[in-house]
Amino acid sequence: MARYEYPFTIIHRCGHPGSYKATQDLLLGYKERLRARDCDECRNAKGGQETLTIDGQECVLPAITIGSDAQIAWAVKIRRKVLTVLLKNHHQGEPNPVDWMRNLTSAKWWIDHRDVPPAALAPAVPKAA
Ligand SMILES: [Zn+2]
Repeated sequence: MARYEYPFTIIHRCGHPGSYKATQDLLLGYKERLRARDCDECRNAKGGQETLTIDGQECVLPAITIGSDAQIAWAVKIRRKVLTVLLKNHHQGEPNPVDWMRNLTSAKWWIDHRDVPPAALAPAVPKAA
């Protein structure tokens, strides 16, 4: 039998309210964890879609969404660094690095490849399904 989930509202660390549900035995710890983090919108904004303007070229990359907050924050930094290098060395007519980066939304991939020279990264990308 489904157990009753108590609805509750908390204020996140970022100051925004959030409404959730939890069973009684989980309620206390869950509330604590939710209060200690930002709301989803703020989390998305932080680890989120990224618009970079490099040498006048505007690049929009999707949010890195797979991974813990810390992994995502780290991966976003790695990706920004890689993209900056690639766009600086980019020549007209070559494939735009933004294109192959678009599907790489797992923080783990970026962290695993953080030591690979940016120019060698494109071939390491798994082909899109
Ligand atoms: Zn918020």
